Amino acid sequence: MKIKSKLIAGLGSLFSLIIILSILGIFKINSLANATENILVDNYYTLEYARGMLKALDEIPKEKEAMGVFEEYLSKQQNNITEPGETELTASLTSHFGQLKEDPSDSIAPFEIRDDLYHIMHLNMSAIQGKSIVAEETAEDSIFWILVTGVLSIIIALLLLIKLPGNIANPIIELTESIRQIAAKNYSQRVHFDEHNEFGELAVSFNTMARELEEYNNSNLAKLMMAIKRMEALIEKMNEPVFGLDERRIIIFANDAAREITGLGKGQLVGKNAEELAVTNDLVRELLQELNENNNKDKKGPLKIFANGKESYFEKEILNITLDSARLQDKKLISHVILLRNVTSYKELDFAKTNFIATVSHEFKTPISSIKMSLQLLDNEQIGILNEEQKNLVSSIKDDANRLLNITGELLNMTQVESGNIQLNIMPAEPMDILQYALNATKVQAEQKKVTFETDCPKELPKILADKEKTAWVLTNLLSNAIRYSYEKSTIFLSIVKSGEYVQFSVKDTGQGIAPQYQDKIFNRYFRVPGIHREGTGLGLAISKEFIEAQGGQINVKSDFGAGSTFTIMLNAIL
Ligand code: ADP
Repeated sequence: MKIKSKLIAGLGSLFSLIIILSILGIFKINSLANATENILVDNYYTLEYARGMLKALDEIPKEKEAMGVFEEYLSKQQNNITEPGETELTASLTSHFGQLKEDPSDSIAPFEIRDDLYHIMHLNMSAIQGKSIVAEETAEDSIFWILVTGVLSIIIALLLLIKLPGNIANPIIELTESIRQIAAKNYSQRVHFDEHNEFGELAVSFNTMARELEEYNNSNLAKLMMAIKRMEALIEKMNEPVFGLDERRIIIFANDAAREITGLGKGQLVGKNAEELAVTNDLVRELLQELNENNNKDKKGPLKIFANGKESYFEKEILNITLDSARLQDKKLISHVILLRNVTSYKELDFAKTNFIATVSHEFKTPISSIKMSLQLLDNEQIGILNEEQKNLVSSIKDDANRLLNITGELLNMTQVESGNIQLNIMPAEPMDILQYALNATKVQAEQKKVTFETDCPKELPKILADKEKTAWVLTNLLSNAIRYSYEKSTIFLSIVKSGEYVQFSVKDTGQGIAPQYQDKIFNRYFRVPGIHREGTGLGLAISKEFIEAQGGQINVKSDFGAGSTFTIMLNAIL
């Protein structure tokens, strides 16, 4: 039975019963009232008249008016004939009263009248008794029917109260739970409403939907499983080590190469917490450490790993895998993939290159020095006087020899930087001494270009804690750059100031400046701003940065493209 029909039937019958109960009550109470009214009107008044006539009859011999009173009651009685037989008795009474009226001295007529009156009274008394019994029966009957309909109403109301809420609410509760299960991807969930009502129809529709979702999910699951297997095979076959961690740092995959370098088996890696593994495995610890520092650290050099009896170098790349979350409306981090690229062969080549440059630069130094010495001898007039043309030739050979010496010096420094062997000799030094050294070293170069220096240094300056030689080399390089990239006859401003716990050297030129897109690249090795055709190796600033940072200092540039550049070095002051 449909819920709607059930509701109509239940509430309808309750409603009908209440109406029946009301009508029955009104009807029964009405019949009771009528019965009592009848007794009063029909019989009680007749008794009253009869009693009045008896009293008047007694007084007729003594009082004349009594006749009139009797007549009055008689007339009322004649108008109140209600019971069968009462008409005849009243007629007899009327006729006997007529006899008495004609002959007041008639002694039989009063008896006759009394007899009539007793009969009338008796008739009405019997009627009253009969009607009381009827009223009593009516009352009992009313009570019975009101009770029956009342009890029926209560039973139906109770049934509705017990059954209806459950009938409606239970399927809704079951349906809500099933919808929740489906939302949680439990597509095997079904609802079971056997009744042939609206909920039954709803259950059929719901189960159809769940079945189709299940079929769709199963077909997708198979595809998904296949795709996962393919991905796993691909990762496994990769020659480079690959690790996958979920957002709680549990290792979700690690390929053969990854297992080889960690020295751990599949069962010891997959499913294990990387933080816990890091306690006993150095490589995992290093990978995790870098993962924690990821994004906020400068790129470190390659990882050195000793595996399978040899040293290998790996470049590490960390990919943070995020997923668009519809609920969170932003990206949710789901895993980290750590890729290690084996760069051992490049590293070996790089070592060979660095060694080669170091050897060549070193070997070049001696012949260049002897060339310089020979040139000095040629300059000596005691040995012989050169003509003008020869002097010019000697001067240009001297320039070239100096340049060569500079280049070999830069290359040697670079090999130190690349092999990580910067030998520092840190000690207290006077900033002014360093500046003076750089000024002397670049004096000839400045004179050739007619560039003047303007220095601004306070007398009282704290000493710095630095490698004097290397800092002087850096400052000379900055001054040399400033001269090279300035126009002829321009001025270069030099200053030294105390800045907090540092002493700051500034070299400011008014040359062509550096375009903004190159400003953070000029400290990279071998980088030269494109389109500027000046001699140089692109190594000076890279070496300068390594030298200054190795001493715990900083080197920066601020450049106004077209107006000039300012290079600053900050070194620790001794306060
Ligand atoms: P290089 O030997 O080429 O001068 P550096 O490392 O000293 O190598 O400088 C790198 C590049 O930075 C230069 O090639 C040049 O383009 C640019 N640069 C350096 N100093 C200045 C400067 N004072 N003004 C303009 N450009 C400069």
